[in-house]
Amino acid sequence: MNSAEDRLRYEINYCGNCDVCRNLLDHSCLVFPEIFKLYDKKKERGEEISTGELRRLVGLCNFCALCPCLNIREALLKAKTEYRERYGAGFKTRVIEDVDRIGRLGGTLPQLSNLLLQNKVTRDWIDRTAGLHRAREFPEIPKEDFSKWIKRRKENRGPAAEPKRKVAYFAGCTAKFFFPEVAKSFVEVFEMNGVEVYYPKQKCCGMPAFLEGGIKLTMKFVEYNLSSLMEAVAAGYDIVCSCPTCGYFLKSILKAGAYHSPEYTDTLAVSDGGYVKLPRDGPILSSVHDGTSLVWVEFLRTYLKDDGYFSSLSARERITVAENTYDAGEYLLRLYSEEEFDTRLGPLSARAAYYPPCHLREQKIGKPYYHLLGLIPGLSLEGIDEIYCCGNGGIMGFKKYFYPLSIRISGRLITKLKMIDPQLIATDCLSCRIQFNQLTTYKTLHPLEVFKESYGNYQAQTKPHKA
Ligand code: SF4
Ligand code: SF4
Repeated sequence: MNSAEDRLRYEINYCGNCDVCRNLLDHSCLVFPEIFKLYDKKKERGEEISTGELRRLVGLCNFCALCPCLNIREALLKAKTEYRERYGAGFKTRVIEDVDRIGRLGGTLPQLSNLLLQNKVTRDWIDRTAGLHRAREFPEIPKEDFSKWIKRRKENRGPAAEPKRKVAYFAGCTAKFFFPEVAKSFVEVFEMNGVEVYYPKQKCCGMPAFLEGGIKLTMKFVEYNLSSLMEAVAAGYDIVCSCPTCGYFLKSILKAGAYHSPEYTDTLAVSDGGYVKLPRDGPILSSVHDGTSLVWVEFLRTYLKDDGYFSSLSARERITVAENTYDAGEYLLRLYSEEEFDTRLGPLSARAAYYPPCHLREQKIGKPYYHLLGLIPGLSLEGIDEIYCCGNGGIMGFKKYFYPLSIRISGRLITKLKMIDPQLIATDCLSCRIQFNQLTTYKTLHPLEVFKESYGNYQAQTKPHKA
């Protein structure tokens, strides 16, 4: 079973026989209705599923990770990568997958970039050149991106007192270039909690290029980040992400298969029965903080291989980065459980809905912000189930062919939000925020921005009045 076609036909047959997702995912995922359509066609009419149909199928996955079995999304992604190597990528794909470059270019002359995006003639040209949908609203490009802000801030501040904890902040492209107020809130909220924040050299986590099947660009980003983040870990920093997609990528996707590499297994102590203790890890795309299992070393060496997407990179480095990466909410909740979270929070009188994004769910850490936001006085909070997807899928929701599909996927979640009718939506995913900004009138904030406001309200309340 070597070709993309073989693997996909196998998975379609497997899902068709299983049938569990026939109705389960038909609102939130465009892939499964198509899988069952292809399966039924083959079964009922004996017609072979064509390469064209399979190429269309892989283009429908926005990697929301709602599907219960890992094999299907792994097969879709591997096929997408193989098709790209086989048929090449168009200019439009190469433009849109490099969010790091888009952000840097847009931020060079932000006022001009905003004018070009607002003007109908130039926006039409941009849409045609990059394959974007004209109805997708762009976030406004800020005057100053996060990298410039943090550099300026560092220059204006003296050396800090020796902190108890120190984190290396992985900001992600969307916060860095388009929503710097989220990244600034990260720095301020963590510092409020006595944590030193270091901003290491970094590029895009690689997820957009990974989803476009662009292995070369993905590798370029990953190699750069691995080297920089390894240095940070060696210097005693925990890596912390405010973006759930970056977190999912660094914690989970990057190290998939790494525990099966001899570079790692040769360092493990083997027990009397010939067993080694391994972190529980699927063949690809599973979670890091999820316990361990005992594996028979002979089985491990014979059958399990580090043959995943990133197996050409050091397994030890991938594991080190993954095991030292935390989601910001996860980190703050840990501070809270160790009684180190600053609970001097001021009132915020609002009815809020908290939406936990798909890639947070995949980190298998629960909903840390849901618990933490509950500490803010006056904030009434309604949590939304994790089974909904906003449909945006990062850059996919900007693409001409995927934009209407992304709106269709978001339907159930938007209806749910309208039923709650909150004054504020809190969500940690900026791709979801772009979708909510476009499809609702509710103000949407990252939970870190909500905490920053609440801390500010406390300080304002307790500030001594001048006589
Ligand atoms: S993804 Fe898993 S549970 Fe769903 S239909 Fe396929 S095999 Fe069954
Ligand atoms: S990752 Fe999401 S879009 Fe892709 S197959 Fe799974 S459920 Fe469907």
